[in-house]
Amino acid sequence: MITDAIDPLQDSIMSLAYGRDHLAIPGPSVIPERVLRAMHRPAPNIYAGDLVDITETIFQDLGSLARCSGDTVIYIGNGHAAWEASLSNTLSRGDKLLGLATGRFGLGWAQAAEAMGAEVQMLDFGAGKPVDPGQVEAALRADTEHRIKVVTTVQTDTGTSVTNDIPAIRAAIDAAQHPALFMVDCIASFACEPFDMDAWGVDVMLAASQKGLMTPPGLAFLFINDKAHEVSQSANLKTPYWDWHSRITASVFPMKFGGTPPTHHLFGLREALNILQEEGIENTWQRHRSLASCVWAAVDAWASGSHISFNVSDPAHRSPAVTTIKTADGEASALREWCETEAGLTLGVGLDLVPADGGTHNLFRIGHMGHLNPPMLLGTLATTDVGLKALGIAHGSGALESACRVLANLPAATDLQ
Ligand SMILES: *Cc1c(COP(=O)(O)O)cnc(C)c1O
Repeated sequence: MITDAIDPLQDSIMSLAYGRDHLAIPGPSVIPERVLRAMHRPAPNIYAGDLVDITETIFQDLGSLARCSGDTVIYIGNGHAAWEASLSNTLSRGDKLLGLATGRFGLGWAQAAEAMGAEVQMLDFGAGKPVDPGQVEAALRADTEHRIKVVTTVQTDTGTSVTNDIPAIRAAIDAAQHPALFMVDCIASFACEPFDMDAWGVDVMLAASQKGLMTPPGLAFLFINDKAHEVSQSANLKTPYWDWHSRITASVFPMKFGGTPPTHHLFGLREALNILQEEGIENTWQRHRSLASCVWAAVDAWASGSHISFNVSDPAHRSPAVTTIKTADGEASALREWCETEAGLTLGVGLDLVPADGGTHNLFRIGHMGHLNPPMLLGTLATTDVGLKALGIAHGSGALESACRVLANLPAATDLQ
């Protein structure tokens, strides 16, 4: 006879969270065991030897991942540091910047510029739509004196999960025959979705270690072409730490980092780049596409007859790296709470889509970037499905069936009827 103490039914109402936790937030992303192991080593010599040798290969491999024939610079810092580095090297106090925003991060970068002394003109496309290249062209044509020195935009805005068409924005700048530098934040999208710096005519690209690059937060990257170098000559917001020129030309190894190098991050990043090279970047992009489609199929199913919906309605402008999902007020926060405490799954919090609207209880995000495969992603979707059921949140059925059909390359179940 089963006693209360070992009643398996009794156990099932307790937390199920004992096991390997899963982080499904849009950065930091899951760190592969190989990267963690590569970092577990004693502190190295920072003037010669292994660290110096592998760092040379890191600069080369990052440049080829970005398809950048110019220079690559590494800063100890997060994405916000990359913003400041890009602005410091290209602007002088009072220079004008045209900021294109499709969410919190496009706005944040422009706000940093303003705080640093630039004059900012904003084109805000709202919280669920991409940059409209036509409006960019019009704004640049109106700037007949060419006072705008820099145009900033984000490839994927991680708050809204809107993805922008970077070549189309470049074409708009060219159509206006405007000389402004084109700077793109790829912090959420680098190594998740296609990017081709040289071919797309991007002058400065920003990335960071903790998203598609699967390495702990702490490294910020700038990719720079000749035009950006030229502009930087006269930029008076430059300070010794951010100055990219002194890093690129440093003759003593640590000065490539403005001081002590981020030793263990570099060991980890080397291993992450090895993983990406083994997969092949086109395959990495394709894997992100497939896994994102799998998430979208599940959300489509949940959305049927419920308050659940995509923040970005047009699939062409959804990110392959992160998906922002809307619910009725309070449902998203309850769902996140349940998944984390009852099941060991951490979903992404909602970020204010409109600054300070306080409406984050009706949003959650699924990060699907970096080190991710079907068991991890289907586990996330299935656990979310359990949470919806356990909490009695209305949702359409068949999310897992739909998600699995996507990965099996089968037509959607509804197409068969
Ligand atoms: C994550 C992110 C940032 C900010 O990065 P932090 O490391 O949090 O400073 C900036 N832009 C985009 C697009 C991001 O995804």
